[in-house]
Amino acid sequence: MPPAGLLHVGRDEVRGYGVTITTGSVSELVKTAAGFEARLECGQRVGARKVLVATGLRDELPDITGLRQRWGTDVLHCPYCHGWEVRDKALGVLWNGPDTARFANIVRQWTSDLVLFAPDDVLAEADRPLLAARSVRVVEGGVDRVVVESDHLTGVLMRDGRTVARDALFVPPRLVPNDTLLTGLGCLTDDLGWVVVGVNGTTSIPGVWAVGNVSNPRAQVITAAGEGSAAAISINADLVDDDVREAVHEVTQVAPP
Ligand SMILES: Cc1cc2nc3c(=O)[nH]c(=O)nc-3n(C[C@H](O)[C@H](O)[C@H](O)COP(=O)(O)OP(=O)(O)OC[C@H]3O[C@@H](n4cnc5c(N)ncnc54)[C@H](O)[C@@H]3O)c2cc1C
Repeated sequence: MPPAGLLHVGRDEVRGYGVTITTGSVSELVKTAAGFEARLECGQRVGARKVLVATGLRDELPDITGLRQRWGTDVLHCPYCHGWEVRDKALGVLWNGPDTARFANIVRQWTSDLVLFAPDDVLAEADRPLLAARSVRVVEGGVDRVVVESDHLTGVLMRDGRTVARDALFVPPRLVPNDTLLTGLGCLTDDLGWVVVGVNGTTSIPGVWAVGNVSNPRAQVITAAGEGSAAAISINADLVDDDVREAVHEVTQVAPP
């Protein structure tokens, strides 16, 4: 199912249960006496007793001409998401840090025609035999741009003028969480900068939950949805606890002496 179709079905389904979907970007979450207030860029403000943040992450790509335009089509990041569609094709992997050699050997499972593009002097000597043993070719030097013809990626143009023909490229991106709403509230982050969450998505701020890629870089669609389900149950239980506390308070206030 195309991703937009999945979103459409999901939104229709929750509307059927009386949920209101407001379109817009939340610029800030603020703590209030009653809970929280979401402040939207359009000026609208929405109050809530509890908040679940599921704002995902951004994939930051190397600054190479043409890469962003092909993102998700024939410039790909995840062998588990896209490998099947490009199996047995002429594939490339673009260097994006020391883990790229291992990443290349994961992509190698999908094709016997794989090129690893690496700048000069970055590939560890220890990685060369691991790549050679699996027939992964290494092309070293600077990449100028990706070559696109008739809306298809056809190769990689090196700065020295060589063009290496390829059908698709894999790039391990830098994953950046969209977590400013959470960090703005003071949610704790771990040593790698990701918001710390408990097993049901609880954050260090009572009343605030986070699920999916905003707090878990390994989440895929089904994982993010599963985390959302667990958080929903946890939020509901928390609301019930509040309601019971409130009811007990009211009863004890009005009870005859
Ligand atoms: C090219 C590509 C292909 C992929 N293929 C697969 C695949 O085949 N299978 C798979 O399981 N996963 C795949 N994934 C990963 C998958 O898309 C994510 O893991 C998943 O969507 C994470 O869900 P999420 O709800 O955490 O975040 P997202 O789906 O990213 O949703 C976050 C939402 O929050 C919104 N948002 C962000 N900030 C704000 C704000 N301030 N105010 C209001 N809204 C905000 C965003 O606009 C977005 O709609 C792919 C990812 C990419 C990039």
